[in-house]
Amino acid sequence: MPTLSEVASKKLQSLDAQGRKRTLVVSERQRDAGIIRDNRTLISFSCNDYLGLSQYPEVIRASQAALARYGHGAGASRLVTGNHPLYGELETQLAGYKGFEKALVFGSGYLANLGIIPTIMGKGDLIIADKLVHACLIDGAQLSGAKLLRFEHNNVADCERILTMYRKEYCHCLIVTDEVFSMDGDIAPLEPLSILAKHHDAWLMADGAHSLHSYASPVDIYMGTLSKTLGAYGGYVCAKAEVIEYLVSSARSFTFTTALPSSVIAGALQALKIIEAHPELITKTLQNAELFCEYMELPTPQSPIVPIILGEEEKALNASNKLKEQGFIVSAIRPPTVPLGTSRLRVTFSAMHDEDSILRLAKCVKRIL
Ligand SMILES: *Cc1c(COP(=O)(O)O)cnc(C)c1O
Repeated sequence: MPTLSEVASKKLQSLDAQGRKRTLVVSERQRDAGIIRDNRTLISFSCNDYLGLSQYPEVIRASQAALARYGHGAGASRLVTGNHPLYGELETQLAGYKGFEKALVFGSGYLANLGIIPTIMGKGDLIIADKLVHACLIDGAQLSGAKLLRFEHNNVADCERILTMYRKEYCHCLIVTDEVFSMDGDIAPLEPLSILAKHHDAWLMADGAHSLHSYASPVDIYMGTLSKTLGAYGGYVCAKAEVIEYLVSSARSFTFTTALPSSVIAGALQALKIIEAHPELITKTLQNAELFCEYMELPTPQSPIVPIILGEEEKALNASNKLKEQGFIVSAIRPPTVPLGTSRLRVTFSAMHDEDSILRLAKCVKRIL
């Protein structure tokens, strides 16, 4: 038998040959959109901290105050002794913000999806997911043991086709989609999907990890993160009270993991207050994306995520490297994160960007493409 190191080396060689070996790069974020890499300060167009809340003085102060008062780690899972009073406050605020009866915070967005889907779905059930949903929804679906079918991206008619053909062979049925697609920036047709779900006796779940807004989503289960727009760390789910109670008792990625530190919860709570008091942060973020798209003659963006699809992995990597030389961090996104042949630059905008750096970036992108 080969040693574990031999097997790992061989697998790495194969990944390298396909241009899919990943490496970590030390990145130190600054208070603005800057990031220090290799002793240079670059402007990041790759963070999901859309509103810049991770660097907001009030958020940092709220987190520091909780840290000083309650200490660092939570000590245990929420069901044991980790259910800090700030959790209840944050969950009430999140549920209200998103227009649901109740919310439940998980350790991360990934853990939320990994816990939610196998709790409500199982063998003999059917999950129908958009072809471009985030990897952790697929992981959750596979963990559940339910049958998984995929519909064409944002194509309600294709989802209907699958429901008509297969729904009757299964017990429960869940339609799963991202709300804002993480690598494309477009938005799911939640309203038509919810009508379709009702018509075919199915439930609808949306992953709102990249959502900026609070609006009543017509879904049965809404998942979100504290890690992106809220600039903190953690995930959450919103649903009717009974569903949340059931998840508390049965979602394994909720039960068997330590609660988040109270400082993280305090920071997220403060970030939510800032969003509610300053809706202009959201407007500014979207306007920044619009400015770039106008200059680039791209379609008007639906979110702060703007993909520039280049095709081959090499092409995306080269473009990203050239932009780095010019002082910008714009990630090259490659398979398996996106489908083969759709490697791209993924440009994300935030309220922290200024017009000057957006126009400079656009000029550089135009020049290298
Ligand atoms: C980032 C992301 C997640 C995972 O959230 P984390 O809090 O980072 O674990 C889930 N779904 C989508 C669509 C995401 O983009």
